[in-house]
Amino acid sequence: MLNVKDMIKDVLVSEEQIKKRIKEIALDIERDFPDGDVIFIGVLKGSVIFVSDLMRAMNVNVTMDFMAVSSYGMSSESSGIVRILKDLDFDIENRDVVIVEDIIDTGNTLKYLYEYLRARNPRNLKICCLLDKPERRKADIKADYVGFSIPDEFVVGYGLDYAEIGRHLPYVGVLKEEVYKKV
Ligand code: 5GP
Ligand code: MG
Ligand code: MG
Repeated sequence: MLNVKDMIKDVLVSEEQIKKRIKEIALDIERDFPDGDVIFIGVLKGSVIFVSDLMRAMNVNVTMDFMAVSSYGMSSESSGIVRILKDLDFDIENRDVVIVEDIIDTGNTLKYLYEYLRARNPRNLKICCLLDKPERRKADIKADYVGFSIPDEFVVGYGLDYAEIGRHLPYVGVLKEEVYKKV
């Protein structure tokens, strides 16, 4: 059987690096919201692992909610026209909110989501992403908390998938090219 670990060309961000960086990001968020009571909004499914670890690194009270979105369009690049598949359970008016994403690529998805949530009048709306590919940016959007800036390569692991493969890996790695042909 094909082992997903054999599909990885390089480990881009190790498990240890992720752990260390999450503690730093949690401190940054605590510094911005010392009283806690922050809502983390995870964007399904890629951010699930990240949001779970980030929450447990926090020393103030946080609640979590999730949104599921899908980007319209046939191309491999997101279009910026986003369909909401699952909306929030909570009212975020006058609340401190942090959108937690796995990766910002073109930024189109997040730009849409940011405007969508902004319209509900949260007191604060911040963006936290584990990975950022600044070279690929199209939309005018910037994260307030970034785990790692990475080069323009397709990555999997730590929640991120290729055709649902690789989410369980504890690190972020670059897929071997041959995998794209096999799956
Ligand atoms: P954007 O709208 O910023 O172009 O796209 C964001 C979404 O595309 C991410 O939330 C993620 O689902 C997907 N994506 C972008 N780059 C990568 C990548 O390198 N690996 C994986 N697995 N997904 C990616
Ligand atoms: Mg995502
Ligand atoms: Mg995906």
